Amino acid sequence: MARVFNFSAGPATLPEEVLRQAAEEMLDWGGTGQSVMEMSHRGKDFLSIAAAAEADLRELLGVPDYYRVLFLQGGASLQFEMIPMNLLRGRATADYVNTGEWAKKAIKAARGLADVHVAATSEDRSFTYVPAQADWELSTGAAYVHYTANETIGGVEYGWVPQTGDVPLVCDMSSNIVSRPVELTRYGLIYAGAQKNIGPAGLTIVVIRDDLIGVGDPVPPAMLDYATHAKADSMYNTPPTYAIYIAGLVFKRLLATGGLAGAEQRNLAKAGLLYDYLDRSDFYANPVEPADRSRMNVPFTLADSALDADFLAGAAERGLVQLKGHRSVGGMRASLYNAMPIEGVQALVDYLTEFATAKG
Ligand code: PMP
Repeated sequence: MARVFNFSAGPATLPEEVLRQAAEEMLDWGGTGQSVMEMSHRGKDFLSIAAAAEADLRELLGVPDYYRVLFLQGGASLQFEMIPMNLLRGRATADYVNTGEWAKKAIKAARGLADVHVAATSEDRSFTYVPAQADWELSTGAAYVHYTANETIGGVEYGWVPQTGDVPLVCDMSSNIVSRPVELTRYGLIYAGAQKNIGPAGLTIVVIRDDLIGVGDPVPPAMLDYATHAKADSMYNTPPTYAIYIAGLVFKRLLATGGLAGAEQRNLAKAGLLYDYLDRSDFYANPVEPADRSRMNVPFTLADSALDADFLAGAAERGLVQLKGHRSVGGMRASLYNAMPIEGVQALVDYLTEFATAKG
């Protein structure tokens, strides 16, 4: 069967070239007579794979040498807990900005560990915008400020970086990491699960400034302490070796196709194509404030939700899959991560047009 256009929010579509290379190397990586999956994580072959993946990610994100790149497990969800455990540094309060489902989950997890102050929220308009920095009420003495760069469910994305002075800025970049250039030195810590823009599920990327490592007070249990993983070069325990290998192939491909500036151009073109169509149509709607619309996740509704099942069945017949919206919001959602080609978005727009003409 031909490959489909997969609009899943994650795990998500990966570059076909990467999958083909992985297939070619499946039984014999680099003349070793083994699959990467079968290699010792401490052997020189895998160490070279992990080192190249880290070096390439550093180049892509522009990571200075006073930051560490950690390859962890437990998903972004574990970071919701590791962040307060490590970054409170004996302080009581942490500031959070609430922009939707994922910010809420981060806040809920932190509440068990810190005195959480919600500095701003967009709940008043059903999380359809990013609260302007002028409306944030940051607390004095906060240990850090946390925000969610892209709300995967609501389809809301920051187009700017918050100003927090000397207070470390912490960002959940799970669903837009490596989709656009980033000013990394504005952050104390960024984190992301790999399963959207980077590779297979099971790998979590953390980039953390040196002065925020090993300062947990009280000291967290070893596996939850960034210092443990930094000291051991992310090999304190067995890392997700195959996921790191695929991530490395994705990073190489990004570097070869214009880096993050190239990715941003492609993502702007894809998102523009879809939003322009949705805005021209009376049949479909997207509720998000135009300036805050996500380039990665585009939620939309049909004029009549009774047509949803028909819409999805017709899409699947055309090889357009995983368009059903998140169960908490309903409707549809098209995720347009880096690996979604513009041909996939064009095929979606063609289908949207056809469906609206037939049923509208
Ligand atoms: N944050 C965001 C923005 C997400 O989209 C997700 C997953 N969809 C998570 C956190 C949770 O990630 P994980 O499932 O890797 O724990």
